[in-house]
Amino acid sequence: MGGVRPLSKVVNIPTAPFIADTFREGIERTGATNIPVGFNVDRCIAAYQYQGADALHGTVSFWSYFLDEVERKGIDPKSLGLRTIIGGAEGGANLVRSRIEEGFGCTAIEGMGMGEMSCVIWGECVEERGHGMHYIAQGNVHVELIDPITLESKTIREGAEGELVYSALHSQAMPLLRYRSRDNVRILTTDKCTCGRTGFRIEVIGRTDDMLTILGVNVYPLAIRDVVSAMKPEVSGAIEIQLEKPGPVVEPPLKLKVEVGENPGDREALKKKLETTIREKLIFRANVELVDELPKYQYKTQLIKKLYE
Ligand SMILES: [Zn+2]
Repeated sequence: MGGVRPLSKVVNIPTAPFIADTFREGIERTGATNIPVGFNVDRCIAAYQYQGADALHGTVSFWSYFLDEVERKGIDPKSLGLRTIIGGAEGGANLVRSRIEEGFGCTAIEGMGMGEMSCVIWGECVEERGHGMHYIAQGNVHVELIDPITLESKTIREGAEGELVYSALHSQAMPLLRYRSRDNVRILTTDKCTCGRTGFRIEVIGRTDDMLTILGVNVYPLAIRDVVSAMKPEVSGAIEIQLEKPGPVVEPPLKLKVEVGENPGDREALKKKLETTIREKLIFRANVELVDELPKYQYKTQLIKKLYE
């Protein structure tokens, strides 16, 4: 779906250490060549410069990390010949896609699965990327939608929200049945896509594990990041939620660090604007602290910082 073809050479960065080899199998099954380099940026660059690699599989955090590192080394990212990026595993592809695609001159599509079940159950198509991930594991993993609080089944139809529950249809020895993924999603459409696929499309709202409850309202860190990211270029889009006590119940105001962008303007005004917008869109009070830089993650971005032991 992502554009890997028999002649592709794919630099395969693990999205989870124990399933990297499963991706190798998938890549090779298409006829393409798998190039394992671990998390080493220099070996990664060398694979494009000397081995003719033209595709990448990695987490969304790695897409950004790799582009930053290539630019920092003074190399034109387009000169690497990277045409196809596949991966994801943590959400957030829509926030970085335009920069990644323009930077490398490639297409980037997001996928999602679960190590316990199948490494890819959902994937965007190139044609409609940015508009949800198709269900692509028909006949392999059965999918249900439930209310994460009442555990009742929900009908899969446009606009429905809930937690994904998986059942393995082919696994031997230890098939997991009705296994809760903790991934909360919204069904975007059940219509046939322009790419020809019929699998319904979803977007991830957040994880049940990460869910915070502020004054009785359920809030996901991904939703906070989306609201903050809409204020680029005043902000970079990076956030860090500071939790003083274990969740999910949080007393307002929520402490939130926000990384400023290239043009933050007046900082006091920006802080006020962020706090007002969060209150309007997500209905809770936040105490925003603007910072010049938040930690960069190679593997997966951490949106919550626990200040307690
Ligand atoms: Zn499609």
